[in-house]
Amino acid sequence: MTISYWLDESLNSTKQFDAIIIGAGVAGMSTAYWLEKNNPNLKIAVVDKNYLGSGASGRNAGFVTCGSSEHFNKLHKQFGLEKAVEIWKFSEQNRELLKSEIIGGDLKSVDYFNTGACTVAPSAEDWTRYQTVYSTMKEAGIDVELIDEQYLASQYGVRNFLGAIQYKHDGIIHPVKLLNKIKSKLKNTEFFFGEEVFDLKESNNSVQIKTQKHQMSAAKLFVCLNGYIPFLFSEFKNIIKPQRGQVVVTEPLPAFVKGPCYLTKHLCYFRQLPTGELLVGGFRNHDIEAENTALDESTDKIQSALTEFVQNYFQNTKSVKINYRWSGIMGFSDDAQMIIGKHPKYNNIHLMAGCSGHGMGLSFNSARVMVENSEGTELPNHLNINRITFS
Ligand SMILES: Cc1cc2nc3c(=O)[nH]c(=O)nc-3n(C[C@H](O)[C@H](O)[C@H](O)COP(=O)(O)OP(=O)(O)OC[C@H]3O[C@@H](n4cnc5c(N)ncnc54)[C@H](O)[C@@H]3O)c2cc1C
Repeated sequence: MTISYWLDESLNSTKQFDAIIIGAGVAGMSTAYWLEKNNPNLKIAVVDKNYLGSGASGRNAGFVTCGSSEHFNKLHKQFGLEKAVEIWKFSEQNRELLKSEIIGGDLKSVDYFNTGACTVAPSAEDWTRYQTVYSTMKEAGIDVELIDEQYLASQYGVRNFLGAIQYKHDGIIHPVKLLNKIKSKLKNTEFFFGEEVFDLKESNNSVQIKTQKHQMSAAKLFVCLNGYIPFLFSEFKNIIKPQRGQVVVTEPLPAFVKGPCYLTKHLCYFRQLPTGELLVGGFRNHDIEAENTALDESTDKIQSALTEFVQNYFQNTKSVKINYRWSGIMGFSDDAQMIIGKHPKYNNIHLMAGCSGHGMGLSFNSARVMVENSEGTELPNHLNINRITFS
């Protein structure tokens, strides 16, 4: 966004903070939480161009998972077994930290359910391959089980699949209730919603940002924009690629899906909400060019694929009504790992981006390591911004 002289109301005064966070998604809110936790006296601002959770954080499926078993297999091939297990454990830690720091004993307050997560084998060939993936995961100490066709049909309501790998410890959540719960824990954070940051500069050991209404200054700036980061920092244009994800939610149905499921053939996933609605998302691979966008709108092609899946892959859903259709924007990095650390061109700007579709399973822990890194602690190398070459 650009701003005209006439519309700029920010010039008259500068608001001072110790830390400013841009982006009020799960990343920005988690960053505010860890900053306050480490130093309750800090004066913090969270600025968002829209409202709490208006980005992907309020539009996702609410899987708080380490990812699918297929994801583990990819990590194994990409980084080797030791690193794959480390990355998996980082998400396990994310889930446990969310529970211990934010949710506490009151799982109901954010509709959190300890369901485990299931990766369904899309074909007989995959099912054979999954036996090896299962053994590797099991030997690496990851708590997985193989489940068969009958169990899949009776516990997950899907038919015509031979089996799946179930990881036992993941869960599902209401993402917006989670954001509100984090917000309720923040005592020293001021929120500026409906304010787009369109300019920033660094001078004299502080960072200044401008929105249409305010000019603000702080010792440190934390940028939590995920897929939107290239629009503020053009040097991220070839580093973080915005990609759209789409979802449908049906009318309420009797309970028949035990927990979150991945069906990686279609880049597709599904779960049932506590109130009975079936949520299905994915199918980006049906229109990959069109989905490489930061435009938040649903399309007929993907929505038809999602609707057809709802109608044909479950029992008793042939004529079910779709009540919600929506989209959201994710940010993908080349190696599908987050990019965290100090912006190479600035001294006091820190950032995290590139959740690559897994922000609910990563961002709380990633915000912790970003905040610690801003105080001088080393980052895990697979997340470190130093691995990136900026052109
Ligand atoms: C359909 C869909 C389903 C998904 N399902 C899951 C799932 O089940 N599990 C999972 O782990 N992940 C899932 N994801 C991914 C997950 O939602 C994201 O990785 C995560 O929410 C990213 O959080 P964030 O806070 O980094 O970014 P966002 O939530 O996108 O927040 C960025 C914020 O920045 C604001 N902003 C942008 N530009 C500016 C500016 N210039 N000035 C001020 N504010 C600005 C935006 O308004 C936005 O609120 C899904 C994503 C989608 C789209």
